[in-house]
This record gives sequence, C-alpha cells and structure tokens, in this order.
Amino acid sequence: MSRLPEDYIAAEHRLGAHNYKPIDVVIEKGEGVWLTDVEGKRYLDCLAAYSAVNQGHCHPRILKAMTDQAARLTLTSRAFRNDQLAGFYEDLARLTGAHKILPMNSGAEAVESAVKAVRKWGYEVRGVPENKAEIIVCANNFHGRTLGIVGFSTDPTARTGFGPFAPGFRVVPFGDARAFEDAITDNTVAFLAEPIQGEAGILIPPAGYFATVRELCTRHGITLILDEIQTGLGRTGKLLAEEHEGIEADVTLVGKALSGGFYPVSAVLSNSEVLGVLNPGEHGSTFGGNPLACAVARMALKVLVEEGMMENAETQGARFRTGLSAIRSNAVREVRGRGLMIAVELHEDAGGARAVCESLREEGVLAKDTHDHTIRIAPPLVITADEVDWALERFDKVLTRLG
Ligand SMILES: *Cc1c(COP(=O)(O)O)cnc(C)c1O
Repeated sequence: MSRLPEDYIAAEHRLGAHNYKPIDVVIEKGEGVWLTDVEGKRYLDCLAAYSAVNQGHCHPRILKAMTDQAARLTLTSRAFRNDQLAGFYEDLARLTGAHKILPMNSGAEAVESAVKAVRKWGYEVRGVPENKAEIIVCANNFHGRTLGIVGFSTDPTARTGFGPFAPGFRVVPFGDARAFEDAITDNTVAFLAEPIQGEAGILIPPAGYFATVRELCTRHGITLILDEIQTGLGRTGKLLAEEHEGIEADVTLVGKALSGGFYPVSAVLSNSEVLGVLNPGEHGSTFGGNPLACAVARMALKVLVEEGMMENAETQGARFRTGLSAIRSNAVREVRGRGLMIAVELHEDAGGARAVCESLREEGVLAKDTHDHTIRIAPPLVITADEVDWALERFDKVLTRLG
C-alpha cells in the first residue's frame, strides 16, 4: 500500500492531538545521518530527534543488541531482578563517576525523580522543615512537559491553562550567579539548570558562571542538579557538558541519546547521598531499568565511546561553525554553539527561522527552528567532513538568498 504524504498528514490532522507543528516531511527510513521520506527523497538530518539519535539512525550494533535482547527477555518489572541491570549500572558508573543510579524512561521522568529525591534529601539530611524545600531554577528553562515541570517553566505556551502548579520553585535569570546567590534561603535544597539552554535557543552562559554556581552550592549545602538530557552523551564534544565548565554536578540527568534513539531510557546519576534517601516503595517505574532498555543503553554508550563520536562531535562541530560563520548573508546575526550543538540566529527582519527551515528542507536538509529567529543544528555525531560540507553548501544557498 502506498500513500501520498498528504494522506498521512491528513490522517494525523484528523485523529491526532495537535500538540506539534511538524515540518511536513513523512520519513520512512533512517541510516546514519540520512533520512528518506515516503517518496524516496533523502535528507541530511540536522536535528537528530533533539539529540536522541547522537549515534546515528538505526546504528547496526545498537540494533543488534536490541533485537538479541528482545528475543530473550524484555520486561520483568522491578518486582524481580534481571541480568542486564547490574551491567548497565556498572557501565554508567564507570563512564560518569556516578555513585548511585536511578533508571527511568523519559527525560521528564528523570527530572521529576530528581526533584522528589532532592526534596527528601533536604528534609532528612539537611533538616529543612517539612514541605518547605525550595529548588532554584532558571528562566527560559526546558526540563520536560509533566505538570510538575511546566509548573516551574517560564514559557507561557508551556504553562498557560495547565495550573494549578506545585509550589517550591524559584526562578532566577540563567547565567547570573549573583541572582542565584541572592535567591538562596535556608530552605534551598537544589539548583537545577541545563549547562547550555537548548530549547531556549542554544544559550551558552558566560565563562565562569557554573564554576561560581558550583562554589555557591558547595558553600551553602545545595545540591547542584544538571539536566544533561540534551547536552550530554557527546553532543557538545564531551561526554557531559559540565566538563567544559570544569565542574562536577551532584546529580546529573541523562536521557535521549542514552538509547541511541531506539527506546526511551533515562537515568538520574547521583552522589550517594541524594539517591541514597530513597527506600523501597517510595519511587518506581514499571519499565524503568527493564532488560531491553539496559541492553540497548549499554550498547549505545559503548558505540559512543568506541567509535570516537565525542571526538568527532568536537571536530565536525568546529568545521560546521566555521563554515556557517563564513557564509556572507545579512540575514545572520550570530552563529554559536559547542560541539555539534549549534544555533544560527537570524535578524528579526529575515523572515523567521521556520521559513528558512522550510527552504532547507527543499534543499535536502532537515533542521528545526526554535523561538522564531533561531535555527538549531544538531546532526548525529557520526557526521563526516564531506557531509558537513554538503550541508554547508545548502545553508549557504538558502541564507545568501535572504540577503
Ligand atoms: C528533551 C529534554 C527533556 C525531556 O525529555 P523527554 O524525554 O522529552 O521527557 C528534559 N530536559 C532537557 C534539557 C531536554 O532537552
């Protein structure tokens, strides 16, 4: 049965909730950095499913780990033990230095889990009065879509109409260590931030910001929670983006590329204290830590390291940014990024990032607009120099046409 792209789009429109506005390309196949639509047209993927596909589409070694494990055992629930969880813990701990790990599924679940654990830590270890724990978060944050999380979002689209929200969060500007310090009270248990704000438009904080934040957290007994769900696992050219800042978080959240895009797998990585407060029955997930997820995640981490993807992100990221900066277009205001997490910000009179992404799609490049005037570029970390150059030619064509 062959259907036209319009047929898929019409069915989605009729039956699906309209909570997304996708670029109208209907993909049926992916391999490495390349995607093919239902009419056989090929595209270079410059989004990588918001960095969930860092290892490239349908990576053969992850695929094999998944199908082998799926044929053996997929789910026991945590009512029983399975033979994959211990290895998943060991691999993650060795790579990241975490002392305790909580396996979950989606990124938002990892964030929610960290909030729960750190509140309990605040009461039991820090002696904060019951129900008074405060967590400081940043303006323009993106940590997911659950009620708890959108309650401390500052994006009206994410929040409006969904209240009432849970108390216990304070918002400070991102990148302003002084504002963070001023917001600290005796009841502050944690500071939660993204090392680079992704959904906000790839915003990199001023040099030294996180070093100061780390120092303040240590001095005031505050748990530093870094959401590395998008920045982590090689995206910025390092395993974790915190390495660029020369710091270590107390709690780190990973997801997305933890499975190479095959399956939702997330985790809370913690020092022993924070996750140490959780007792049997106090938290859980039917699918969290299931053997299929563990097998997939172990291979996703293995290929990331063994196939040099982090180093490649650094090298090709620099090539991509240099190439973008060299494009002579009056439409471009700024090119910024780290590794293969790149933003091209357009001038406000350039007609908008969405229109540029539509033009890029015509040329065979799939990228995503964010916040009206920013184009986000985040291809799988397996991209080659030739493929970067191929993409740059398309960016050059589309951006120079704008002026
Ligand atoms: C994607 C993302 C999340 C949420 O992950 P989901 O798997 O979509 O729930 C949280 N934080 C950051 C920084 C993200 O990019």
